[in-house]
Amino acid sequence: MRGSVRAPRFFSVPLKGRHGHPGTYRPSCKPIAVLALKARPIQFMINAPYRWAAVKAARPLRSIDLFNDFSLSPCLLKAVEALGYTEPTPIQQRAIPVVLQGRDLMAAAQTGTGKTAAFALPLLERLLQNPAHQRSPRALILVPTRELAAQVSDACRVLARHLPIRGVLIYGGVSAKPQLDSLSRGVDLVIATPGRLLDHLQSRAVDLSKIEMLVLDEADRMLDMGFIRAIRRIIAALPAQRQSLMFSATFSDEIRILAKSLLRNPVTIDVSPRNAPPELVDHSVYHVDTSAKHPLLTRLIVDGDVQQMLVFTRTKHGANRLAERLVRDGLSCAAIHGNKSQGARTRALDDFKQGRIRVLVATDIAARGLDITELPHVVNFELPHVPEDYVHRIGRTGRAGLRGRAVSLVSREERERLRAIEKLLGRPIPVAA
Ligand code: AMP
Repeated sequence: MRGSVRAPRFFSVPLKGRHGHPGTYRPSCKPIAVLALKARPIQFMINAPYRWAAVKAARPLRSIDLFNDFSLSPCLLKAVEALGYTEPTPIQQRAIPVVLQGRDLMAAAQTGTGKTAAFALPLLERLLQNPAHQRSPRALILVPTRELAAQVSDACRVLARHLPIRGVLIYGGVSAKPQLDSLSRGVDLVIATPGRLLDHLQSRAVDLSKIEMLVLDEADRMLDMGFIRAIRRIIAALPAQRQSLMFSATFSDEIRILAKSLLRNPVTIDVSPRNAPPELVDHSVYHVDTSAKHPLLTRLIVDGDVQQMLVFTRTKHGANRLAERLVRDGLSCAAIHGNKSQGARTRALDDFKQGRIRVLVATDIAARGLDITELPHVVNFELPHVPEDYVHRIGRTGRAGLRGRAVSLVSREERERLRAIEKLLGRPIPVAA
């Protein structure tokens, strides 16, 4: 066979506005045999905080410096190169060889560390190396929110653009029909939130009995969102013989219990110091009356000529109200939360990513896992109930080596909450001048 032939589109249920081009499967990109990992010691930067400058400066001798050092197929390396990734991040350095070896993995990594590619690259490689005769799902990635599902799906689609691998994105709040159509045509990879996947499982629209690899992403948030029973029911439908990977921002006792029941003799990797704010974020607080928060926020945006800001509120109602007030101030703005339809959430996120709106007001769950490139400003209009959410929130900025700024507007009633966050961080948050 000469030249290139069309491969089936990787994601048959793309999100609106995210239609990927059908991948092209070139014979030159055919999977090659897995080469054994190079027989040289691999030294990792244990517990190194994710800090790109530091990664470069303190690069250990004989570390995995380049993606070429992993035994990945040329098609995957080509996709990595097209993304502009030159060096693997610490989680990628450590997780990719482990997953390629077929080991189970328990990884503590915050979002923003490059964890998606850390599991997606070896997962795609393994799917490629062991082609199946029939098309029933062989890998399952479970994530807590629709936005994260869409993001992970986008990342997989881009990485798999030269591979003959088909995936489906499954989440609730949208019509099930396109998902069912894709499932009946046959897919290799399923990326799903637990609720809708369970619906498909119960109606026998999906068969998970051939799953070889399971990824549980943001496992801590899955538990916070009450998905534990759904997860257990989904896992019961998987074969016992499989490879399982679990990613979590923190290793709480609950997470360890889940890991024990899910993983077999896992390799444990921790690339993020527990409950530390991302290294590249300057964070500060303004002590301010509740009634003065909105005018202060508008001033911060206008006077600072801020072009993109993600603002967190505690409640859905609060998010709507604030978005309306900012629009009245003449700022382009949208709110994103669980009561919005999936269409509205996707549209708001796209508008924000494309720079069509300046301010995105979000609740914690809606914003979890959002990866918006080069987001320089995050504001906590209200502090979160759960101190750990502070770390997740400000982790939206300071990503991929860029500096970020996070500001919290703290009223008198929220002082207790601020103290809880500072206790968790083990240091006070500076007061803005
Ligand atoms: P994640 O933690 O998976 O949400 O990734 C955070 C961001 O880092 C995403 O925008 C990725 O595209 C980007 N990223 C992941 N790996 C690399 C890498 N090796 N080099 C540069 N950027 C990366």
